[in-house]
Amino acid sequence: MSDKIYIFGHKNPDTDSICSSLIKERFNRKKGYTKCFAARIGKINKETQFVLDYLKIEAPEFIEKIDDGQEVILVDHNDFGQSIDGIENANIIGVIDHHRIANFRTSEPLYYTAKPYGCTCTILYKEYVQNGLEISKEEAILMASAIISDTLLLKSPTTTNHDRRALEELEKIAGIDIKKYGLEMLKAGTDLDDFSEEELISLDAKSLEKDGGKFIIAQVNTVSIDDVLKRQDKIEEAIKKEIESKGLDLFVFAITDILNSNSEAIVLGKKANVVEKAFDKKLENNKIFLEGVVSRKKQLLPVIDKNF
Ligand code: MG
Ligand code: MG
Ligand code: MG
Repeated sequence: MSDKIYIFGHKNPDTDSICSSLIKERFNRKKGYTKCFAARIGKINKETQFVLDYLKIEAPEFIEKIDDGQEVILVDHNDFGQSIDGIENANIIGVIDHHRIANFRTSEPLYYTAKPYGCTCTILYKEYVQNGLEISKEEAILMASAIISDTLLLKSPTTTNHDRRALEELEKIAGIDIKKYGLEMLKAGTDLDDFSEEELISLDAKSLEKDGGKFIIAQVNTVSIDDVLKRQDKIEEAIKKEIESKGLDLFVFAITDILNSNSEAIVLGKKANVVEKAFDKKLENNKIFLEGVVSRKKQLLPVIDKNF
């Protein structure tokens, strides 16, 4: 077992998961905890790669599984289903997160910070301020990138005033036009052409369970829903394989237009009617258009979970 303390976000890491682990490592080190190391439990996506390239910094270390008793700090998630293999037997000493608490337990007391903000990095920003720690330009851009990503440039309904204020302050420190930077960053994440359909449906997929049933809500961002739907047949094939191999009852693949703030979802599985009930709208050709829906956490997961 390593005497390092690993800090990592969820599977299929997004920009918040990566930036939060990097920021929490820096925060802890500034506080004198030198054994803390940022890590990641999946591949860096294109949006996050844009951030790392912009700042010319390395991605956190990739870890595949952990030993029993390994000390870890979770950021941007708590659900064991979205965490690393072996998490059940790890020693979770801290959590910093902005999701509902589900499928989570520890045998020891821990530090747990949960805030219903739009982004984990907003929580970390406040911890910097509360602790009187200076925020470097690089740290400001890391945190701003995460906030822009999770709130889609403050347009998602998950956005809170805490996120707005944090981004405003971070923009001053970063000294860049954050809207221009943010749009470029988001667009970098919408380049889906060189992904296979199997990859597309797993880039940002969350597996969930309820009453013994299993479902996945996956999401991709795009600037053209039609562009993605050109591949609908092959996407459906990939989803059907996934349903088969994982024994899923429902698969929702949300294609989110980040410029117009709408989504269209491809819905398959024997419980596909759950989505029809959730939105009081019929599927047509396995698709449903969801006006104004951009947030899995606030607009998809709760209604689907409730009707599942
Ligand atoms: Mg996340
Ligand atoms: Mg997040
Ligand atoms: Mg996300």
